[in-house]
Amino acid sequence: MTPRVDERCYRDAYARSLEARVLEVAAADGLPLVVLDATTFYPGGGGQPSDQGVILRAADGRTWTVRAARRVGGEIVHELETPGDGELPRAGDLVSVDVEWARRFALMRTHTALHALCGVVWRDYGALVTGGNMEPGSGRMDFEFERMSGDLVEEIEARVNAELRAGRAVRVNVLPRAEAFAIPDLIRTKVNLLPPGIEQIRTIEIVGLDLQADGGTHVANTREVGGILVTGYESKGRINKRIRLQLTEPD
Ligand SMILES: [Zn+2]
Repeated sequence: MTPRVDERCYRDAYARSLEARVLEVAAADGLPLVVLDATTFYPGGGGQPSDQGVILRAADGRTWTVRAARRVGGEIVHELETPGDGELPRAGDLVSVDVEWARRFALMRTHTALHALCGVVWRDYGALVTGGNMEPGSGRMDFEFERMSGDLVEEIEARVNAELRAGRAVRVNVLPRAEAFAIPDLIRTKVNLLPPGIEQIRTIEIVGLDLQADGGTHVANTREVGGILVTGYESKGRINKRIRLQLTEPD
C-alpha cells in the first residue's frame, strides 16, 4: 500500500520546502489541524521537538503559521495558529510547506551531537543511554553510568569533539525488522521494545562510531555539527547520570 503522505524528512533531512495538496482540515480544542499529501515537517519524537514553519497557498499567497506538527492516527498533522480573520486553508488547496530552517538545522546538529555523545560513552565507558531530550542548540542525555565524575566528563567532551571534527559521514538506513534485530549494537537503544507491527526499522549510523534505531533528522556529516560544550552533569540516582551540552559553531 502506498502511504497517503510523502513524509520527506525521513529520506531527506535537508528538504526545507515542497509543494503539497491539502487533504484535510479539522479542529481540535479550537486549534486548526491540517493534513497535507507531502510535508517537510518532522512531527516530533525520540527527544527531538517538532518543526515549526509556514504553509503558503499558491493561489493567493496567503500564509498560515504552523506552530507544531505531530503524528495523529499514523499521519503527520500540522497545527496552525488561528488567523485573526478565521480563514483556513481548504481541502484541495495547493500550498508550499516550509520548515523554519535555522531552527530545524540546529535540531539536526544537536541530534547528531547527542548520538556522537552516546557513541563515545558506549564505546569508551560501556555505559548505556536511558533517555534524552533536546532544544535547538542544546540537549541532555541520561546514562547508566555509575562512575561518572567531573574529570571523566571533561574527557568525554574532548573525545566527542574529536569525533565530530573527524568529519564522519552520517547515514540513514531502513532495514527489515529481522535484519535490524541481528545487529548487536542496536539492542542498547532498545530496538526490542518496538511494537511488533513495525516491519521496517530506520537506523542512523555515524560511520565508525555509532548506530541506533532512530526516527529523527540528522546532518549528513559530523563536521556540520561544530563541537559540544558540556554545560553540566548531575546524578539522577546512584547509577543514573545526566550530561547536559550545548553546541559550538563549526570552524
Ligand atoms: Zn536520536
